[in-house]
Amino acid sequence: MTATAPDAPAVAHFRFFALEVLRTRRLGHSFLRVTFGGESLADFRSGGFDQSLSLFLPPAGREHTELPSTDEDTWFGAWRAMPDADRPVMRSYTVREQRRTPEGADEVDIDFVLHGEGSPASRWAGRAVVGHRILAIGPAVAENKSVRFQPPAATDAVWMYADETALPAAAAILDRLSAGTRVRAWFEVPHADDRLDLAAPAGADITWIVRGSAGRERTEQVLEALRADGPAAARSPYVWLAGEAGTVRAVRRHFVQERSVDRRAVRFTGYWRLGASEEELLAEAYAGQAASEDPASEL
Ligand SMILES: Cc1cc2nc3c(=O)[nH]c(=O)nc-3n(C[C@H](O)[C@H](O)[C@H](O)COP(=O)(O)OP(=O)(O)OC[C@H]3O[C@@H](n4cnc5c(N)ncnc54)[C@H](O)[C@@H]3O)c2cc1C
Repeated sequence: MTATAPDAPAVAHFRFFALEVLRTRRLGHSFLRVTFGGESLADFRSGGFDQSLSLFLPPAGREHTELPSTDEDTWFGAWRAMPDADRPVMRSYTVREQRRTPEGADEVDIDFVLHGEGSPASRWAGRAVVGHRILAIGPAVAENKSVRFQPPAATDAVWMYADETALPAAAAILDRLSAGTRVRAWFEVPHADDRLDLAAPAGADITWIVRGSAGRERTEQVLEALRADGPAAARSPYVWLAGEAGTVRAVRRHFVQERSVDRRAVRFTGYWRLGASEEELLAEAYAGQAASEDPASEL
């Protein structure tokens, strides 16, 4: 449940939303944008930047997501108790954009990385068809803890690293930064065709790293690109890092140890881990072996 001050009216920061696929569009070799609509989106309040949400996607062979309960007190137990073959998978994704059309319809874009048919979310996205219905736990208030990008007021430069899974979040952050913000960014993608056109403050310096290997060597390639950059010039940089957990850890070390960035000015999030599904990461979190940033825990 959401923590509230004594006597304050309870404000649920997250709630269930029913989403219906309106259209899909290929953005690059690895990216598929799925645009969702649905009446409940009238109450959806993205905080922008790297706002994330939890999607519930139907098991293989089903068109729509069904849950026995979307009640805030009972859904979790009911979802966990479902037979494996029926249980929708829960996955974290980013709100790339929320908008209201001139006709008054509410829409949300989510950009999926298509990384393989063997992975439930990637498979679902690759087969998404207009009219397919899923469920999501998303923001009901714009100020919520699933917006991780929170630069302090004194920030004089924003430095970013993202792999392809975090590129939608990085793109949404760049969309929102004020015109004068100094930006230095390194974006790692699997294919040259994934170097998307991004709206960014004038003068934003973006290095694209097109991955040469899918294994651990990828981290070395990213570190080489970072080290090729020379000494950094900013008094109070804010560093935002997201992507594969092992690479993110190494990149964080680079900024803290090699560039002497104050560790409190580094916001880093593992979006996935090589060799582990999101269930396995969640199981670790439930077992207390890893900190969970799962927005579902707010419900
Ligand atoms: C806050 C947050 C926001 C996120 N936003 C987005 C987003 O906007 N778009 C997006 O595409 N992803 C995003 N992700 C990452 C996404 O949740 C994971 O990639 C997730 O594992 C995908 O689920 P899956 O069912 O496809 O694969 P899983 O079943 O979870 O994993 C199966 C296997 O695939 C591997 N794997 C997972 N992702 C990838 C990948 N991209 N490339 C290669 N191998 C992979 C795993 O290591 C595992 O071995 C986000 C994650 C977080 C935590």
